[in-house]
Amino acid sequence: MSSNAKDIRRCCACHEHAPKTELLRFVRTPDGDITLDLSKKADGRGVWVHDSEACIGKLVKRKLLNAAFKTSVAQEVYDELGER
Ligand SMILES: [Zn+2]
Repeated sequence: MSSNAKDIRRCCACHEHAPKTELLRFVRTPDGDITLDLSKKADGRGVWVHDSEACIGKLVKRKLLNAAFKTSVAQEVYDELGER
């Protein structure tokens, strides 16, 4: 029982599937802000991306969170990611 289907998510940058352990999760808070979900368990719709320079870079450059959450994500969110 070390791995099962529900622990696999799709990266919104490269669209590959990967275990949660290799991904970062973003979630929309009740206030409508998009934030990095470090617990990976917060309520709400999550968007996943590889914890890699390539995928995070693509997400920042193309502002993929805007499309994924169908909302306008604050530039600070992208700026922080770019500085990780
Ligand atoms: Zn990826």
